[in-house]
Amino acid sequence: MSVGADRDRESELSRPTAGQVEIPVDAICVGCGRIRVKRVRLENVDQKPTVDPAALEATDLTPFKRVCHPCEGATWWKPVAVLSGLLDNEGESA
Ligand SMILES: [Zn+2]
Repeated sequence: MSVGADRDRESELSRPTAGQVEIPVDAICVGCGRIRVKRVRLENVDQKPTVDPAALEATDLTPFKRVCHPCEGATWWKPVAVLSGLLDNEGESA
């Protein structure tokens, strides 16, 4: 079983919030263990807003709190990968 091979990360990704520096990450919910693409603000994962997102590793990021629907509330999500490939084409889904 190959995990994640058939996922459409771009469609999972929500729209960016204006005026905020956010990066797309694969994150795992500590409650139910599912992995989803999440957009996180740099300060929410213990990074300075001035850092280069493309240079970040998932291990640099701290867990962040976000709503998980199967868990029916806000849970902690642990970053497992920085989706740097999605950084360059934000807002250009053709
Ligand atoms: Zn969950």
